[in-house]
Amino acid sequence: MAVLPAEEARFEYSVPVVVIGAGACGLTAALAARECGAETLVLERDAKPAGSTALSTGLIPAARTRFQRALGIADSPELLAEDIWRKAKGETDRAIVDAVARAAGPTIEWLADRHGVAFRLVEGFLYPGHSVLRMHGTPHRTGRELEDALLAAAGRLGIDIVTSAVATDLYASSDGRVAAVRFSRPDGAVETVGCEALVLGCCGFGGDKEMVRRHIPEIADAEFWGHVGNKGDAIKWGRALGAAIADLGSYQGHGAVATPYGNPVNWGLLTNGGYQVNLLGQRFSNEVRGYSEQAVEVIAQPGRVAWNIFDELREQPILGFTDYQQIQALGGVKKAPTLRALAALVGLPSDALEQTNAAVDALRAGAPEDRWGRSFRDSPPLAPPFCAIKVTGALFHTQGGLVIDPTARVLRVEGAPLPNLFAGGGAARGLSGPSNWGYFSGGGLLSATTLGRIAGENAARCAQ
Ligand SMILES: Cc1cc2nc3c(=O)[nH]c(=O)nc-3n(C[C@H](O)[C@H](O)[C@H](O)COP(=O)(O)OP(=O)(O)OC[C@H]3O[C@@H](n4cnc5c(N)ncnc54)[C@H](O)[C@@H]3O)c2cc1C
Repeated sequence: MAVLPAEEARFEYSVPVVVIGAGACGLTAALAARECGAETLVLERDAKPAGSTALSTGLIPAARTRFQRALGIADSPELLAEDIWRKAKGETDRAIVDAVARAAGPTIEWLADRHGVAFRLVEGFLYPGHSVLRMHGTPHRTGRELEDALLAAAGRLGIDIVTSAVATDLYASSDGRVAAVRFSRPDGAVETVGCEALVLGCCGFGGDKEMVRRHIPEIADAEFWGHVGNKGDAIKWGRALGAAIADLGSYQGHGAVATPYGNPVNWGLLTNGGYQVNLLGQRFSNEVRGYSEQAVEVIAQPGRVAWNIFDELREQPILGFTDYQQIQALGGVKKAPTLRALAALVGLPSDALEQTNAAVDALRAGAPEDRWGRSFRDSPPLAPPFCAIKVTGALFHTQGGLVIDPTARVLRVEGAPLPNLFAGGGAARGLSGPSNWGYFSGGGLLSATTLGRIAGENAARCAQ
């Protein structure tokens, strides 16, 4: 992963806009650049494009969409921006938050109406940090469905996606202008393509164990459920080009990955009144602050696991999620007519589980909040059959990256933009601030799609 002198670049063909990475960011950027009239080529390391996007649940928050209006939900870009800002405790870039919040609704409608992505609003529960219902997903709530819809849209626009092509090096002049990208093929062949503008949609560094250990040691020993091909290349090239890089300690964790199955368990089980216990049958945290910060809470428990405890009332809104159906089919959802029977079924101490449940019921009945700051008020007690899923904490993707301006242009350490380099999604600094607690539910794909679109439009203009 080097940046080589532009004079050394030898290429037989050149394309106005080159995009590295065919996940949500890269594909959205390519769609936008192509619509703006620029011929666009995408380089993707995998034979079948997937990225973390295809591994995800595919849910994207957006405000003031027609999907919200159809259900009478009042929302605004300002409220979305405030929610993101509050979650990040004000420790992120306000200009990017505002730009993303403004662009999110139009991007969702653009993807739906122009590019055939079959979004629906997720109903039945609020995600942590969201003031209103605003999560948009495809019918089966899978990232594979989202990725396939984006690939189909790219195909309709005739965008070339060169697969099995690992971008290895950039060629740039001394002022930082990228002239070409070198990439390698599985047979060892090396090719170079020239460009007028480059979009980095190659995500973060979750797939580089050494980088994860260096920058976020607290989660280095947890499982990584994102795309292993995301090895921090944007950061490596950015460093060589003198780009500013921020928040490398920031990441999206997840505190309820069904174990041993590997599917994320929807947080609606918890926000609607379920809770987590450790192997001692005891609660240990405020489960609804956010699923990202919950990852380290769970892996700090005995055996690095917890059990989500809930009932069928809480299960109802998430029955349509493919991930949940897969956990069910694999036998991961345990049910029993009494708490004691549930405890016996899953191997938890029954007295402790009953005491924990009684304490939660007392909170439901009126106490303002528990010692971790969680309120259960207005949430009815769990009713039989009682349900449980064994979960662990995992790293989903990293949030630190290249510092960009609201036009998705990559900035130098000194603050001025590099001439023709753009970034979005996991390649760019996220919206989360410096750590794990700032991750706003759906913030990953929110950055990928909105900044991808902005990057693509501006890369096309830059290439003219
Ligand atoms: C289990 C799970 C569930 C999630 N659920 C959600 C959710 O519901 N909502 C949400 O907002 N976020 C979610 N996320 C996070 C979300 O998946 C990511 O934030 C998002 O997919 C990032 O998009 P991206 O386009 O930046 O990266 P990716 O989708 O990872 O795409 C990057 C692409 O770049 C390619 N690439 C990398 N390096 C190179 C190179 N050198 N040359 C060529 N190609 C390269 C990769 O192969 C990959 O295809 C989830 C993550 C996981 C793991």
